[in-house]
Amino acid sequence: MKIQNVDLMYLKKKYGTPLYIYDEKHIKDNMDGFLKYFHSSKFKTEILYASKAFSVKEIYRIAKEKGMNLDCVSLGELYTAKSVDFDFSKIYFHGNNKSYEEIEYAVKNGIGIIVVDNLMELELLDSICAKLNKTQEIIIRVNVGVSAHTHKFIVTAHVDSKFGVLYGSDDYKKMIEICNNSKFVKFKGFHSHIGSQIFDLEAFRAALVKLITYAKDYKEKLILNIGGGFGVHYTNEDSPIPFNKVSEILIKTCEEELAKENIEIEKLAIEPGRSIVAEAGYTLYTIGFTKKTPNKEYYFIDGGMTDNIRPALYQAKYDCDIVGKENEPRNHKVTIAGKCCESGDLIIEDYNLPEAKTGDLLITYTTGAYGYSMSSNYNKALTPAVVFVEDGKDKLVSRRQTLDELIEREI
Ligand SMILES: *Cc1c(COP(=O)(O)O)cnc(C)c1O
Repeated sequence: MKIQNVDLMYLKKKYGTPLYIYDEKHIKDNMDGFLKYFHSSKFKTEILYASKAFSVKEIYRIAKEKGMNLDCVSLGELYTAKSVDFDFSKIYFHGNNKSYEEIEYAVKNGIGIIVVDNLMELELLDSICAKLNKTQEIIIRVNVGVSAHTHKFIVTAHVDSKFGVLYGSDDYKKMIEICNNSKFVKFKGFHSHIGSQIFDLEAFRAALVKLITYAKDYKEKLILNIGGGFGVHYTNEDSPIPFNKVSEILIKTCEEELAKENIEIEKLAIEPGRSIVAEAGYTLYTIGFTKKTPNKEYYFIDGGMTDNIRPALYQAKYDCDIVGKENEPRNHKVTIAGKCCESGDLIIEDYNLPEAKTGDLLITYTTGAYGYSMSSNYNKALTPAVVFVEDGKDKLVSRRQTLDELIEREI
């Protein structure tokens, strides 16, 4: 089996397993797709790669090369972006509990927009900007009362989210007052992010309509950022909407709503993370022992929740194959279990596969988002290498952690 014409056996020999493999062309095509279709003649548009989905230097380099904007949520992500000279004016900085150090670093380095989550953050930001004598553009994260996850979305009075403020609340009013009275912080608009792995575009429409009603209360042309969360294909239960359709519908909705309300905006932004990298990613494992229990058959792999915590964290589903046996009869119902000391360390449960032997390679699909970025050293597992493949070539992007690196910070 090959990805981008690079043989998986060859990758296993060269880099070992577990191994994160990314189809670089697929990532670039996804970025190009959004950049091509998310456009309007009525307002500016921006595509931010939400880098928490997969954050390594190389993806920041690719995003930079493509002219994407960036969404960062921590000092660590900002620092990684900085290390490849990403233009800070193209970065939006998120987070509900940004530290003094993080805000100072962002402002000093000329961050484009800070997405302010709450009143206390704005007060701190204002004082830091005063100290540095810098002005800073901000947008306010508002809780629009739309919450979406996979196939369902609900419009609620869900007022207790840890993210954002309620439009028109006391805190919100105080935030606007600070902006009005400050020489340092400049209010530019709104941000909302309603969830993840969303397939129903009506949810985004509902959120966008809310933001536009809020924008009506302002004379200035605002920036509206409707976040990320576009669904991807993990298994055949998922039917994602292609990015050209997503783009078309969001742009059209926005244009229509603006016309209806008779207002203009400066910019509409979206923040795809998962939908840029998930389907471009694969994880390659080696099967070790197999085992039958009275009711189950297990294939044990040399990784698990340390490289992919999503099944344990939220029952995420994946597809997989035994490399080289893709076309053999799938006559074994098996559970793919990791090697961690946790009963919940199961990557895929009750899944039909051919008979596997020790030493066979197992590949899981759509592991490009929130796999590497959520990886851990639990059980002192070593973080796997990350390799990009394109056009018959492989490129190491992050090498496997070493045992010495595992203990080097310990006294
Ligand atoms: C997580 C997140 C995103 C990206 O979500 P995806 O599901 O990966 O597209 C975008 N914006 C914000 C504010 C987020 O928290």
